[in-house]
Amino acid sequence: MDYLKGLNPPQREAVEHTDGPVMIIAGAGSGKTRVLTYRIAHLIHAKGIDAFNILSLTFTNKAAAEMKHRIEKLIGLEARNTWMGTFHSIFAKILRVEADKIGYPSNFSIYDTDDSKSLIRTIVKEMKLDDKVYKPNTVLARISGAKNRLVSWETYLNDPYIKADDDAAMKPRMGEIYRTYQKRLFKSGAMDFDDLLFNTNVLFRDHLDVLNKYQQRFKYVMVDEFQDTNVSQYLITKKLAAVHQNICVVGDDAQSIYAFRGADIQNILNFERDYPDLFVVKLEQNYRSTKNIVHAANSIIAKNKAQLKKTVWTQNQEGDQIELMKASSDNEEGRMVATTIFEEKNNKKLHNSDFAVLYRTNSQSRAIEEALRKMNITYKIVGGLSFYQRKEIKDLMAYLRFVVNHDDEEAFKRVINYPKRGIGDTTVEKILVAAYEHDIPLWEVVTNANSFLSGRAANSVDDFATMVKSFRIEMERKDAYEVASSVAKQSGLLRDLYEDKTIEGLNRYENVQELLNAIKEYVDNPENEEKNLGAFLQEIALLTDNDRDKDETDAVTLMTIHSSKGLEFKQVFVVGMEEDLFPSQMMMQSREDLEEERRLFYVATTRAMDRLYLTYALTRYRFGRLLNCEPSRFLEEIDSGCIRVNKRFTASPAGSLRTESVEPRSGFIGIKKNPSVRPMTTAKVHTPSPDFKPSNTNNLQEGMKVEHPKFGFGLVQKIEIEGINKKATIVFDNFGEKVLLLSFAKLRIV
Ligand code: ATP
Ligand code: MG
Repeated sequence: MDYLKGLNPPQREAVEHTDGPVMIIAGAGSGKTRVLTYRIAHLIHAKGIDAFNILSLTFTNKAAAEMKHRIEKLIGLEARNTWMGTFHSIFAKILRVEADKIGYPSNFSIYDTDDSKSLIRTIVKEMKLDDKVYKPNTVLARISGAKNRLVSWETYLNDPYIKADDDAAMKPRMGEIYRTYQKRLFKSGAMDFDDLLFNTNVLFRDHLDVLNKYQQRFKYVMVDEFQDTNVSQYLITKKLAAVHQNICVVGDDAQSIYAFRGADIQNILNFERDYPDLFVVKLEQNYRSTKNIVHAANSIIAKNKAQLKKTVWTQNQEGDQIELMKASSDNEEGRMVATTIFEEKNNKKLHNSDFAVLYRTNSQSRAIEEALRKMNITYKIVGGLSFYQRKEIKDLMAYLRFVVNHDDEEAFKRVINYPKRGIGDTTVEKILVAAYEHDIPLWEVVTNANSFLSGRAANSVDDFATMVKSFRIEMERKDAYEVASSVAKQSGLLRDLYEDKTIEGLNRYENVQELLNAIKEYVDNPENEEKNLGAFLQEIALLTDNDRDKDETDAVTLMTIHSSKGLEFKQVFVVGMEEDLFPSQMMMQSREDLEEERRLFYVATTRAMDRLYLTYALTRYRFGRLLNCEPSRFLEEIDSGCIRVNKRFTASPAGSLRTESVEPRSGFIGIKKNPSVRPMTTAKVHTPSPDFKPSNTNNLQEGMKVEHPKFGFGLVQKIEIEGINKKATIVFDNFGEKVLLLSFAKLRIV
């Protein structure tokens, strides 16, 4: 077979070993994704497997599209029929078909993070809790963590360990918020992102006939970037492959960067345990990068304690040393990057698309963008505030969602009084309360406004309901584009934007037109079988950050390191190599966190094929203040043989806000820092005594000594009753004063 010539012997082995469980854990750039691509081609072409029977799960939908394209090149059009996409998009598709089995409507809405946070904010307010303690971000992260470990709200509420955790974090009501949040989602006929996986697990657990159907369909299952799957995703994959056992996973433990979202490296170890007859392939040759870059990346990751040992080498050229660039400020850093791109492009006849600028957090893009714009270099931003997160786009999308699903509470709140139609916050609240108190669907309240509201408010709501009903009738017989255009016009949204004659207003108007264009394109695309509004909405809800750029023009890519996974560029800049920024201050609670940051750095460096630049600034605006920065500790960890200081761009001392200059350390590369500023670990968590058993605390008294499983020993200072809760103030030997709710806290009276 001709195409097999494009593979080295172990790659070829992995491609040809089609049956039974296969795992490829290998370093960056060693051809893991290539193996998956060729494997699918091989299954279809050489083994005669129907493309419909192959399922591949990728990190982004764009990655899936690219893979399809490559397979098509290898074997022709048949490739189009494979099932390929992210976990979320594939299982949303399946849930859409099977929704009724788990009590959901098939037109369920998918809440994005903003919708979820807004709902949490509402619930926290209704429960009269402090939103500074129960921050929507924190609450959502906690709920998301639970769902990714398949912990339902019922389990959550009954688990004493979880309770202890929430108590310790001073958030004892977390479980109740989780319960209400789920109930409200259900009532709105909506799922959040995590539900798409959680509910798939529920579906497969409770409906074996459904599971069986998909087990039969997917004879071959493949997962790219396996190191970043969470427990929920792992279980789905395992269940689907249970009958045929033809499952192939590829990944790199050194690139695991989503632990904060519940990804679990343990899955790699479990895989060996779950499939004892596993065929393991090692790929060690890197085809992407120069020797210098491979060597530097190896020296970085070697600092991590937790890793599976593997060797990565390359036959590619030695290449240039990595360049370290120092700037006096973030703006100068931007100029340095832009100037270098400009020169390299001209000297080496490169395209803009050969360059990528990677950063730790989105906000860093601003200075880079400004500099690129000044030099007229076209760029595109992947992720960040993307098109679909703009207010005017979300407004129209909310209308469309509400037309499809009348019970969608978050969509309802967005559109009921926009454009203004005299329905105030109080009226909206009354509607929501009525639906809640009578336990009826939101739409029932809206369509019976007279029973719940009076006078003008009732009339306005009535008009709104009539309008939505008319859109719904249109939806039954028209395609997504026709309905969306008529919603944009008749809701008054377009007019409202049109009347705003400022430049921003004009932009917003054009953006809405652009959305309508996108819908038209969707409808006209013969690959999309369903042209209705519901199908379009689902497609959009599941775009990942990387999928959102449609622009095919030749542009420099700006993105976070997280989004850069799996990609490659000739020249890569990693900017903001500073302590507290990278490694990030927020992620420095423990050694595990630091190791995850280091893996992120490994991912960043291994995106580069020919040249890698690392830049840092001595001062930077962050959180509205000008801060002095120190070079990142990671810079010191790179083998000094593969890196050199770029002498051309040295920070100008003139006007520098720094009193102490940063001078090269003897024999090394220009880094000096104060080790005392490194926050490594928090106070050590107590290990409970072996005979630890919680005591009955009904008679707990001031002055008693207690043991807490996490905080260790402490002395009870005060007991108070607040409502139905009994609270104890305890001063712990190592953790200081804590106030614990006695019905939740696990305490042993010593
Ligand atoms: P990552 O860990 O970053 O996801 P990967 O292991 O998936 O990397 P690929 O993206 O598949 O690696 O491959 C890296 C580059 O090397 C690609 O450009 C690919 O086409 C090329 N490559 C891989 N194997 C070969 C080969 N046998 N011959 C030629 N080129 C190869
Ligand atoms: Mg890959």
